[in-house]
Amino acid sequence: MTVLVTGGAGYIGSHMVWELLDAGEDVVVLDRLSTGFEWAVAPEAKLVVGDVGDIGLVSSIVRKHKVDAVIHFAGSIVVPESVTDPLGYYENNTSKTRSLLEAVVRENVPHFIFSSTAAVYGGAGLEPVREDAPLKPESPYGVSKLMTEWMLRDTAAAHGLRYTALRYFNVSGADPRGRTGQSTPGATHLIKVACETATGKRPWMQVYGTDYPTPDGTCIRDYIHVSDLVAAHRLALARLRAGGDSLTANCGYSHGYSVLEVIDSVHRVHGADFDVRIAGRRPGDAPAVIANSDLARQELGWRPNYDDLDRIVADALNWERLLARKNVAHGIQTPEPDNRLALPVKRVRTKS
Ligand code: UDP
Repeated sequence: MTVLVTGGAGYIGSHMVWELLDAGEDVVVLDRLSTGFEWAVAPEAKLVVGDVGDIGLVSSIVRKHKVDAVIHFAGSIVVPESVTDPLGYYENNTSKTRSLLEAVVRENVPHFIFSSTAAVYGGAGLEPVREDAPLKPESPYGVSKLMTEWMLRDTAAAHGLRYTALRYFNVSGADPRGRTGQSTPGATHLIKVACETATGKRPWMQVYGTDYPTPDGTCIRDYIHVSDLVAAHRLALARLRAGGDSLTANCGYSHGYSVLEVIDSVHRVHGADFDVRIAGRRPGDAPAVIANSDLARQELGWRPNYDDLDRIVADALNWERLLARKNVAHGIQTPEPDNRLALPVKRVRTKS
């Protein structure tokens, strides 16, 4: 039995591949390498460079490798980009998953695990959000993922496929053993941006808004270590193979940190100051998004090992340093980060 990991050369997918190999699984990766890297795929996994929307290719991989489960990460993930290119997002995330599912059904693959997102809920509040909360995605990205959840539900009902859709909160950090991490240039996610600033890849960073209805005025998110996230997938796979029903579950720690608390952590762990500036709100940001993760704990037996902000930051910083060396080794030029999104109005120095 082999597990097919789509997007296995990307950030979360490459961690999943290591997690599966560590558990003794055979793994084949399908990735078109548009944002992922060949070097990010563990050498013990077989890499097929191609598109998840290619039904013939997926069918042949399933047959050749006797695939019994697909873990589907491939897709586009930048929320503001989805606002300017909704059709691109519906194509990449929704249409191509439809094709992937067609191949899965055609080849009778029994198990499917899907990367969904907290963005299906839209603006949440300070209260942790449960899976049965109203689904009101506020971006084409969130809609593209929710449509896929629905497509999966209907396909499973019609064809006997069983699936797990995991709704990710703010995935961050890197493999504690330094084997892979978040490597895509032009990152927009807070912990990555702060680590790039701390390590000198960016001259400064911005805090998007300090006037939110939260204790310190900055947005609160539930940051989950990528290793805990992929462990939840491994448990979901075991549950499906043991005959478990289809399930949709949140993946987060059930508590959050503000933007300033995250930046404090990066200062603390890095041990040196860096330039942080206050800017206006970033369009579309909800004040707080926190998971209720009771369901994942109950159904998957999920017990996080890295629920500690400084640990997440330490692994992210470590990866940032390793990546700088890796990029030099692979002759990759680091593009100039785009810091022009909002003009700085004031400098802040958070506690270090
Ligand atoms: N954020 C920030 N500066 C940055 C990047 C992000 O202040 O350079 C804030 C962003 O406005 C949000 C939080 O950090 O309130 C988390 O943003 P991120 O893009 O990491 O994840 P999101 O929750 O938007 O998916």
